[in-house]
Amino acid sequence: NIRIVLASRPQGEPAAENFRVERVPLPRPAKGQVLLRNRWLSLDPYMRGRMNAGRSYVAPIEVDAVMEGGTVSEVLESLHPEFEPGDLVLADGGWQTHAVADGDTLRRKLDPQDAPVTSALGVYGMPGFTAYAGLHEIGKPRPGETLVVAAASGPVGATVGQIAKLRGARVVGIAGGARKVAHLRDDLGFDVALDHRADDFAEQLKAAVPDGIDVYFENVGGHVFDAVLPLLNEFARVPVCGLIAHYNDSAPPEGPDRLPQLMGLALARRLTIRGFIVFDFNKLYPEFLREMGAWLRDGKVRYSEDIVEGLENAPQGLIGLLRGENFGKQLVRIA
Ligand code: NDP
Repeated sequence: NIRIVLASRPQGEPAAENFRVERVPLPRPAKGQVLLRNRWLSLDPYMRGRMNAGRSYVAPIEVDAVMEGGTVSEVLESLHPEFEPGDLVLADGGWQTHAVADGDTLRRKLDPQDAPVTSALGVYGMPGFTAYAGLHEIGKPRPGETLVVAAASGPVGATVGQIAKLRGARVVGIAGGARKVAHLRDDLGFDVALDHRADDFAEQLKAAVPDGIDVYFENVGGHVFDAVLPLLNEFARVPVCGLIAHYNDSAPPEGPDRLPQLMGLALARRLTIRGFIVFDFNKLYPEFLREMGAWLRDGKVRYSEDIVEGLENAPQGLIGLLRGENFGKQLVRIA
């Protein structure tokens, strides 16, 4: 078994030396367990938070422990009645070639006839469900309303924008760089696509939302949120999904204290600003699989994937993801 462990906790941006490759004996399954060979590993922004010590919504990864992550895995050996060798499953196999898992904890079996199996790590899995549930429970876009989303070419943002379009909203997508912006406009059918790296980004955003913003699906924070905040309408909804612009921060930002502006607008405009973690809404998962499955089959929701070759390149993949170097769902193909 080859695996990547957390060698040390990063200060700021993670670096190669925060990870270590190890070779260890193959684990053995016990009764009720399966031995998995991990074929695809998902890289996700939350992994950066998991590398820090301290309290969050789940426990941090311990130093010297295997990096956690969702996988598409093949069952090699099964001591669980519902699985047999050759089954493909959605698992939390982690950054390693093999893993042992309790059969009862495996999320679902994957049928390549139903959808390409890698989509279970993106649009048809956790990130897509994040988009679906955050909109369903908090954002609630109505026909004719304006929704804004950043990190809009990634698996969460791209799915948010496309579902909002299906629900009849006008969608403004924000991404970094010309290639991603063109993708939002030309492939995903967003009404407006903007580059957050443009010097006049805040003015461009203002011009793009003549009727203000009814839903801001918050994926990033930072200067994008600064530009959005004054444009929010009365009773706007802000599902707080992620703040990737800050995940590598090691100190509070400089500058004036903007808390009074934020809370003042929350009050005067009666904003709903609500954080959520995808598993809060697990009860919607079957409905998500049904609806998203149909959208994917009908070509109503599209997605893109960015593949890193080889487990040993996973650290560089995660570092790149946090810099915006990925184009679509970031995956690692485990050789
Ligand atoms: P993406 O594939 O979209 O990757 C992250 C993207 O964030 C980068 O490609 C980059 O795109 C953008 N980004 C990075 N830094 C900045 C910055 N400073 N300002 C603006 N954009 C930036 O990731 P996901 O779709 O997987 O995740 C999107 C968000 O959703 C993340 O914040 C993540 O933590 C959150 N999330 C939350 C969940 C929950 O349960 N609450 C579950 C899953 C995800 P670009 O080049 O366009 O800037």
